[in-house]
Amino acid sequence: TTFDSLSLNPSLLNNLTSLGYHQPTSIQTQSLPIILAGEDLIAQSKTGSGKTAAFGLGLLQQLDSKDFTIQGLVLCPTRELADQVAEEIRRLARQMPNVKVLTLCGGSNLAAQQSSLQQGAHIIVGTPGRIEEHLRQQTLSLSGLKTLVLDEADRMLEMGFQPAIEAILATLPTPRQTLLFSATFPDAIAQMASHVMHNPITIKV
Ligand code: AMP
Repeated sequence: TTFDSLSLNPSLLNNLTSLGYHQPTSIQTQSLPIILAGEDLIAQSKTGSGKTAAFGLGLLQQLDSKDFTIQGLVLCPTRELADQVAEEIRRLARQMPNVKVLTLCGGSNLAAQQSSLQQGAHIIVGTPGRIEEHLRQQTLSLSGLKTLVLDEADRMLEMGFQPAIEAILATLPTPRQTLLFSATFPDAIAQMASHVMHNPITIKV
């Protein structure tokens, strides 16, 4: 499989070549047709597999950059991962004009994040606790969300983020697309998936 056969927007496709992404990785080959079709996905995958580009391309392909509402949300277990994910999405979006990706993690100044949010953003990447906090303070609205990504879902549960994730999920619109990535599948993940996903397709890399 090649990226050419995936009906990606030209601005995304051309940029992949300039990033040196000549061939999709295994998870990209398996997941991109599902992601780009707007289906819900549960993917068993690790860091290093290229999963970030898989969901990043999905988020960017369906993004309307003229519409300054938050259309994509990526929940991550740590600030380090959130920073890496935001960087990768920005790299993938290099040839798309005016795409704003904002990271919202605990440990950073809340007021500064609130003023960044007032400038508008298309995609939010962050940790569940801080995103829940913004929702509580009503400085973040996710009512226009198209796609939710749960990245490293097993680590988020291990870190005790389940209540924050549930609180965030309760505010999200439906229908929406939900993509769940996890290295392992304890019962708690299966249970969460069964509540929040709609006919998900499961892949294992
Ligand atoms: P990830 O698993 O998302 O953390 O990605 C691991 C690394 O693979 C990152 O440095 C990506 O930039 C790189 N990468 C992702 N997809 C491709 C691809 N199709 N070809 C070459 N490198 C890639």
